[in-house]
Amino acid sequence: MIGIGVDVGGTFVKFFVMNERGEVVRKEKIETDYTSGSVGFVSTVGDFIKNIQQEFPDQEIAVAVGAPGDVDNEKGILRYNPNLKFTDVADWPLADQLEKYTNIRPVVANDATLAAWGVYETDLKRQGKNVLVVTLGTGVGGGMILNGELYQGSHGTAGEIGHTKIADIASGPVCGCGAHGCLEAFVGTIGIKRRILASVEKNPSSILAQLVQQTPNFKIEVAFRAAEQKCPEALKIWEDTGHYLGIGIANFALILDMDTVILTGGVSGAACYFMPALKQVLSNQQIKTPFNHLTVITSKNPDIGGVGAAMYAINRALRKQIQ
Ligand SMILES: [Zn+2]
Repeated sequence: MIGIGVDVGGTFVKFFVMNERGEVVRKEKIETDYTSGSVGFVSTVGDFIKNIQQEFPDQEIAVAVGAPGDVDNEKGILRYNPNLKFTDVADWPLADQLEKYTNIRPVVANDATLAAWGVYETDLKRQGKNVLVVTLGTGVGGGMILNGELYQGSHGTAGEIGHTKIADIASGPVCGCGAHGCLEAFVGTIGIKRRILASVEKNPSSILAQLVQQTPNFKIEVAFRAAEQKCPEALKIWEDTGHYLGIGIANFALILDMDTVILTGGVSGAACYFMPALKQVLSNQQIKTPFNHLTVITSKNPDIGGVGAAMYAINRALRKQIQ
C-alpha cells in the first residue's frame, strides 16, 4: 500500500508519498498554478498520482487531498476556499474530477483535519482516545480524534476551533473571517500583531518597540526575540496569548473531556512563553475533572499536513480491505 498525501495551499501544493511503515518515500512541492484554472490543477495533481501508479505498479495506491476552507468530505467537494484563487469553479467536485482522471477515488477533507490525524499517528502513535489538535498560524484551525477516530462532523466542517467565540460577537476584535470575537482574532498572527502594535504605542521605548521599529513589515517573531531578552512588554504579549488560548481550549475540554491537546503550527514555537498562562486558565476552572489529566504538548513537524493526508489515505484504504 502506498499513500499519497496532497496538501493544497494557496501558494504551494505539497505531495507526500508514504509506505505502510510510515516512511516518506517521495516528496515534492510545486507552486499552485492558477493560469490554467481548476482543470489545469486537476491534471497537475492527477499526473503526479499517475506517475506514482507507474512507479509502484504492484501496490495499491490510496490518495487523500487536504484543502483549506469548507470541504464536504462525503462528496469530496470544496465548498468555500478563501485561500485558493480558482475563480472558474464554485462547489468544486475535486474528488469526482480526480477519480475520472486517475481511476482512484481520493479522500478530500479539510487540511487541518488531516493534519490532526498526522499528529495523532506520528506524535502520539495513536495513544490516547480523545485528542484535540490546534494549528496556530495566521489562521487557527484544528481537528479532533474522538474514540480513536478522526471526527469530521456531519458535514465535514468539525474543528473550526479558530472561529469559536471567546469575546463579544459585537465588540470583540475582528477576525480574518469577518466576524468579531473569534479565538483566531486573539491568538492568530494577525491578532498577536495587533497587540504588539498597541504595546509599541503604549511603551515606545521597550525592547519590543525598538525591534518593531527596526524591522519593516515585522512579523510576530519580534515578540519572540524580545521575550528572549526578557522584555516585559513582549512577555506580556505571550502571557495574554496563552490566556486567550487557554480560554479556547478550556471550552473544548468542557465539551469533549479529551486526554491530550497538541499545539502545532508556527506560533506553537513560542509555547515556552505562553504555556504557563495557558495552564493557569486550565487549572482555574471550577469543574476540575476534564483538566486534572489533560496534557498539553507541542508538535513540530512542518510537513504534518501532507504526511497526515498520506497516513489517513493508507489508514482508510486498509480499513476498507478489512470490511
Ligand atoms: Zn473567525
